[in-house]
Amino acid sequence: MDVDATVKTYYEQILQRNAGEPEFHQAVSEVLDSLTHVLRKDPHYADMGLIQRLTEPERQIIFRVPWVDDQGNVHVNRGFRVQFNSVLGPYKGGLRFHPSVNLGIIKFLGFEQIFKNSLTGLPIGGGKGGSDFDPKGRSDLEIMRFCQSFMTELGRHIGDKIDVPAGDIGVGGREIGYLFGQYRRMAGRHESGTLTGKGLQWGGSLVRTEATGYGAVYFTQEMMTARGERLHNAKVIVSGSGNVAIYAIEKAQELGATVVAFSDSSGYVTTPDGVDVELLKDIKEVRRLRVADYAKEAKGAAFHKGGNVWEVEADVALPCATQNELDGESAELLADNGVKYVAEGANMPCTHDAIRVFGKRKIDFAPGKAANAGGVATSALEMQQNASRDSWSFEYTDKRLRDIMGNIFRTTAKTAAEYGMEGDYVVGANIAGFRKVADAMAAQGVI
Ligand code: NDP
Repeated sequence: MDVDATVKTYYEQILQRNAGEPEFHQAVSEVLDSLTHVLRKDPHYADMGLIQRLTEPERQIIFRVPWVDDQGNVHVNRGFRVQFNSVLGPYKGGLRFHPSVNLGIIKFLGFEQIFKNSLTGLPIGGGKGGSDFDPKGRSDLEIMRFCQSFMTELGRHIGDKIDVPAGDIGVGGREIGYLFGQYRRMAGRHESGTLTGKGLQWGGSLVRTEATGYGAVYFTQEMMTARGERLHNAKVIVSGSGNVAIYAIEKAQELGATVVAFSDSSGYVTTPDGVDVELLKDIKEVRRLRVADYAKEAKGAAFHKGGNVWEVEADVALPCATQNELDGESAELLADNGVKYVAEGANMPCTHDAIRVFGKRKIDFAPGKAANAGGVATSALEMQQNASRDSWSFEYTDKRLRDIMGNIFRTTAKTAAEYGMEGDYVVGANIAGFRKVADAMAAQGVI
């Protein structure tokens, strides 16, 4: 088999069938690049339309979400749920509320989720959903009415054995509460396993809030240990200031690093003496303000309006905001400034160009599907607690998370080495995630 020609044909078919979805193309092309190594070794993975089936969602649901604002005006948003692959378990993946959301973005996220969920070693399939609704500046009541309308349509497609959504950009504890309340009302029963990221009093799991950020830092620690280095005393840049960023900052500092900058879409804040995490949580989670407000209240912090957070000097960079936020030029800046490790807390924050620069400049790079898998893994732990009507301690759940991240690191590193590409965590994560899903798809027949 001419592997390169076969993979090129798959990719051309995908471009043709999914026109106008650049983020989906980007996510697929990265995985297909890695799969060329697999197909050379094991050509049978091209049998039974396996790769064509894997790149086509099992189901895509698009629906109208009408809602009424506080002034009585009617708004209409679009809701999505892409149920990508359920070969390993019920579809699992977050909901994103952001004005940039469209079908292509949800498909890229759902596609990544398949491999990420596979890497966790837990029985969960891949899916993703969301809406082009912009929660910024909306009152609690508006958010509640939107969530209720969204769930009224989504509710018929989910369930603890079918599809289990969680949070993502713009969807945190408050939104999950409103979504779960409406689901419970419609279902007429308290089916806690239908959503994760729930409040602790009604079926949520300790550590879920912290899990993605903590997990990304645990993964970074493993990468550094593999090179005989430590996070202690390292300088770290974290982009974003949402759920993932806040808890990446918290864990990095707990482990003795200094977080020297973080950001939001309006600019970045430099914090040469580290971040006051309690103040940051109060500003972002309680008062729902912006990073510029943090800089006004924190000693030694400065706000850089519209600036590029990647221009700050550091040893480690953790992009934790959104897709394609770190391009080739920024990657060169990071390398010039001494960064040696990059781990993606966000989904696909680094462009192809940036990843090429990391390779060229000898920066260790952890892709999101490995480094940010701690969130979904802990969601799966929440499902386990719900199924057994139990709730675990913070220490126990955090230990499970640490063990899972350690396993993901070892599997990723071992797989890369097996294919003669030691230290290439992109190839390692893509191949390890793929093989498990592909073997299960082959065993279950052409469906
Ligand atoms: P939040 O909504 O809590 O925070 C998002 C942060 O990213 C905010 O600081 C936001 O700034 C910034 N941001 C969003 N869009 C843009 C943009 N277009 N340009 C610049 N900054 C932007 O989301 P999360 O922290 O939950 O998610 C962050 C990333 O992590 C996403 O890629 C998500 O898919 C990924 N992820 C999240 C998981 C989770 O458990 N929450 C699990 C795995 C991955 P602003 O307020 O200015 O918009």
